[in-house]
Amino acid sequence: MSETKGQKLAGELSYKKKNYFETANEAEKREIFSYAEGYKAFLDAAKTEREACAYAVSYAKKRGFTEYRLGDPVKAGDKKYFVNRGKSVVLFCVGGNNPEEDGFRIIASHIDAPRIDIKQNPLYEDSGMAFLKTHYYGGIKKYQWTAIPLALHGAVVLKDGKKIEISVGEKESDPVFYINDLLPHLGGDQMGGKANKIIEGEQLNVLVGGLPYDDKEVSEKIKLSVLSYLFEHYGMCEEDFLSAELSAVPAFRARDVGFDRALIGAYGHDDRVCAYPALTAVADQTGEHTVFAMLVDKEEIGSEGTTGIQSKVYEDLMEEVALALGANFRKVRAASKCLSSDVTAAYDPNFAGVYEKMNSAILSAGTAMCKFTGARGKSGSNDASAEFVGEVRKMFAEDGVVWQTAELGKVDAGGGGTVAKFVANLNIDTVDLGVPVISMHAPWEVVSKADLYSTYRAFLAFLK
Ligand code: MN
Ligand code: MN
Repeated sequence: MSETKGQKLAGELSYKKKNYFETANEAEKREIFSYAEGYKAFLDAAKTEREACAYAVSYAKKRGFTEYRLGDPVKAGDKKYFVNRGKSVVLFCVGGNNPEEDGFRIIASHIDAPRIDIKQNPLYEDSGMAFLKTHYYGGIKKYQWTAIPLALHGAVVLKDGKKIEISVGEKESDPVFYINDLLPHLGGDQMGGKANKIIEGEQLNVLVGGLPYDDKEVSEKIKLSVLSYLFEHYGMCEEDFLSAELSAVPAFRARDVGFDRALIGAYGHDDRVCAYPALTAVADQTGEHTVFAMLVDKEEIGSEGTTGIQSKVYEDLMEEVALALGANFRKVRAASKCLSSDVTAAYDPNFAGVYEKMNSAILSAGTAMCKFTGARGKSGSNDASAEFVGEVRKMFAEDGVVWQTAELGKVDAGGGGTVAKFVANLNIDTVDLGVPVISMHAPWEVVSKADLYSTYRAFLAFLK
């Protein structure tokens, strides 16, 4: 049967999203699956921003990057990594281009993820159990964090100033931790309540012990046995919690999802699923631009502080590189381009009511560009220009990148924002691009391997 004139015309004029698994050739399909293996290893090694930062540094070192400190000399051809307080890291390669004309190419993603932080005075015992009080970090559905195995990660600065790192719950032989929930038999009132109230912030107490210290004269025996364990293993006493940053994170490992292994389930895809492609693409690219991969902290709580993207340190770093190349930093910024790389919501047919399907990210249809984010009337969005979107679109077309555009959900359904606007405020053209996620901010989120690999391909095209 031959094509009719109308069918032919529709084929030429219409736009349709494509499933990347369907359009990829066999070699590309193998790449999609093998790239995912490296990503899963990264996820299991990097459950906090500190760990992601350390992973990125060792990854960079293995690929010939050397450390840069503010004030260091730098020249064309250098491959450097810059660590900010152990919680954010910037990889950069200094190219041979004229930075005033070509600017820098920047990929900005974040390595913090929603989690349950331990309070400063957390430890108590009650009714045969010892608990840690917590204060959650980022936007979570609190009820999702109960009744799952948790691991404890973080750093403690002891009285003498010595810093120790803690990671318990990841090894098969490690114990895990837990947040109690109510049995359904007694949950009648709870289940009738609003979902944001069925577990309240002050109920997110992490179960950490149950063995009484063997001494009749002691009043809080279980608490003491936890303290004695901490002292024995880390040299830490109760007061040391005051200068600690400990987080409870899901103890799950990254796993393939589905019979066909097309998808990956893991804790913290948001935003390590963009940070990993940023890291690998900047290490793999061989272009002439000066390129930066910024893996930043604190996005989930507003990009504030010394390690969030609003910190002056990232601007300082770029300025130093511009000056070292003898360029006017204002001109460099004006010519620079940035992909703000954060996840977006994948359309979920189970919750179709909150999405507008035509403009939602469809799973496996490639990395998703959000021209604007924000809430209601685009509030809080940088809203990239048609010119810049057109430029990026052309780069992707030239490299055969499978990609799509997306909005987070229905216009009035809610919204969100990310680091894009802060980079754009520096007078750098910026647009959001990242991996669509199912169940974003849940303890275990799902992404497509096709979208992960498409994001890496998009970054390579952009850095070229
Ligand atoms: Mn994010
Ligand atoms: Mn997020």
